[in-house]
Amino acid sequence: MVFGMGLNSVWAKNVWNALYRYFHDILDKFVVDFAKNNFELLVAIILSQNTTERNAISAFINLKEKVGLDPNVIAGAPLSEIERAIRVAGLYKQKARTIKSLAMNVLKGLDLDKLLCLDLEVARKKLLSIKGIGKKTVDVFLAIHGKKIMGLDTHAIRIARRWGIAYSNSYDEIQRAYIRLFGFLDNLDRLHKLLILLGKNICTAKKPRCEICPIEQYCPKKL
Ligand code: SF4
Repeated sequence: MVFGMGLNSVWAKNVWNALYRYFHDILDKFVVDFAKNNFELLVAIILSQNTTERNAISAFINLKEKVGLDPNVIAGAPLSEIERAIRVAGLYKQKARTIKSLAMNVLKGLDLDKLLCLDLEVARKKLLSIKGIGKKTVDVFLAIHGKKIMGLDTHAIRIARRWGIAYSNSYDEIQRAYIRLFGFLDNLDRLHKLLILLGKNICTAKKPRCEICPIEQYCPKKL
């Protein structure tokens, strides 16, 4: 395993610096950067699943303009109206139900701001109890707030497998490996965003473009 190849925080800092230098100009072009409060942030994360940032941003703006991005409004709006507004983001029926369920939970007393003061695992459990909300959504939300956790999308998982940083390919194991290596960062979501950019543009699923990769010299796959 790559742990035997000496991957450590020095390696991780080199990787972070190289990725940040390469992608920092576009690091704030994600749908989550449009959110003005924690409810909007969770909605943005839900919308961003399995779609492009551009489509997630369109859906987010549509929802805000056509329905409203307030838990009261969302809870009272017909599901079909929410679905229509976010259709462009794909999986719109499922996402509309999750967003509505989130709004209902907020109306029933779930305080997303106070939740951030709780122990990480307690906060995680509370968020996971909302119907339709999964680990990745919760972990991205908590990581954005500087918690020692990291949400993993398909790009971050594929890159971890290529780098061989984890003992198994499970979400939890890969998450632990990233946290172990990059735990020096204040905000692990920024690493996640850099990995998404790397995975979309260079370390692609079918044909990685190693010849132009900013971390080519550090890549365990290439060592
Ligand atoms: S060098 Fe190649 S395999 Fe390694 S991260 Fe870059 S694109 Fe992916």
